[in-house]
Amino acid sequence: METVEGEDSSMPLGSLAPSGPTSGWFARVESENYGPQKLGQLKLLTATLSKLRPMTVTPSSKRLRVLLVGGGVACLEAALALSDLAGEQISLTLLAPSPEFVYRPMTVREPFAYARAQRLALSEIAADTGAELVSDALARVDPEHRLVHTAAGLQLPYDALVLGVGARISVRYEHAVTIDDERLDELLHGLIQDIEEGYVKRLALIVPAAMTWPLPIYELALMAAGRAEDMNVKLATTILTPEDSPLAIFGEGASQAVSEILAERGVEVITSAYSEVPSTGKIEITPGDRRLEVDRVIAMPALHGPHVKGLPADSDGFIPVDDHSRVRDTERVYAAGDVTDFAIKYGGIAAQQADAAAQSIAALAGAQLQPQPFHPVIEGVLLTGETPRHVRAYITGGHGVQSDLVELVQGPPPPKIAALYLAPYLRSRA
Ligand SMILES: Cc1cc2nc3c(=O)[nH]c(=O)nc-3n(C[C@H](O)[C@H](O)[C@H](O)COP(=O)(O)OP(=O)(O)OC[C@H]3O[C@@H](n4cnc5c(N)ncnc54)[C@H](O)[C@@H]3O)c2cc1C
Repeated sequence: METVEGEDSSMPLGSLAPSGPTSGWFARVESENYGPQKLGQLKLLTATLSKLRPMTVTPSSKRLRVLLVGGGVACLEAALALSDLAGEQISLTLLAPSPEFVYRPMTVREPFAYARAQRLALSEIAADTGAELVSDALARVDPEHRLVHTAAGLQLPYDALVLGVGARISVRYEHAVTIDDERLDELLHGLIQDIEEGYVKRLALIVPAAMTWPLPIYELALMAAGRAEDMNVKLATTILTPEDSPLAIFGEGASQAVSEILAERGVEVITSAYSEVPSTGKIEITPGDRRLEVDRVIAMPALHGPHVKGLPADSDGFIPVDDHSRVRDTERVYAAGDVTDFAIKYGGIAAQQADAAAQSIAALAGAQLQPQPFHPVIEGVLLTGETPRHVRAYITGGHGVQSDLVELVQGPPPPKIAALYLAPYLRSRA
């Protein structure tokens, strides 16, 4: 992408053009054994769109300039969706500081000596989507002039902007090991070895009262308890959480099912618990003035918004969006994923918000489609150390209303991050 100052960033006038749904990775995905429902949706979407697109090519100078900021689930899903939905009608730029995408949910397995989580060079996905990759970081947005200023001093113009810069993590407890998925193996490998050798007999895992990712603490607890059982050593595992029930945000069905799995593994859960860790191994719980002494404490981090300069933010720095992922009171700016003010921080949700943004932007570029609002559905896999469980929850009002958790006995496991485009793409690269 060119870098300019005060350039005219008017809408493209170009005609519609075909995109390549049956070329490149889209074609490869069809031969993958991917979930039939999702693949069906993808095929229907691409087939319908191919029929609608007249066969003229928009000159590159007239294409809608779409700038994607972030190299996580949200922006990669948006890149793939846009290249399918709007193909030749847009020019894509991906701005990200890190050279690779990391499949974050699978980092939970690394301290247990499983294979490393999947990594993918951003240059590869940029090439597959026709995006230009800029290795730099966002410093601020100037919505009035439709410019993004980068940390290195570049100015990137856009006609439509998608922000997917994620959340920021902070340590809530000084005397606990706080989960940081960038170095989970380094943080927890020694602890898991101590469990295996019987040195750690009481383990506590704390969910802080602040916003955090819902799943990893339950997965770590189940996997640690399972590993102790496998090694024939005693381990008392306790989860302390302010939730009313385990994974309450996923709804009653899923919560009930995960409670049963935890009970089977002997993992105790103290709910409605607000914890403090005043010194090593000591936990104070309110309400009730209860105390717990353990050998080791693991805690989830607290998540905060990044307070992006130039854009609206809620009191914690998250970006407020509507159900088409449009940033409130700002034109041509969209946000998706952990950076938004949506209450559940989850990869599948990031992808659904990205799809909603991509549809709106594709329509803006001239694609013949009716942008659909974002209807949150949580779908994913709970790692238990034994048979993984598939979870699905339909969300309204911040909680799952209808949800279930089923054992995965046959066929390929569904992806940890349920994403219409990104999941099959990553599977084709695994
Ligand atoms: C251990 C763990 C387990 C999880 N398990 C699951 C699961 O099973 N299923 C599930 O769906 N979700 C899971 N999640 C949550 C999921 O990983 C996140 O919700 C998801 O990664 C959010 O995607 P995102 O694109 O919004 O943000 P991120 O993944 O945080 O990506 C943000 C991107 O923005 C880039 N960036 C940051 N700052 C800037 C800047 N200034 N300029 C440009 N780029 C910037 C970053 O480098 C990164 O590439 C888990 C999370 C963790 C940590």
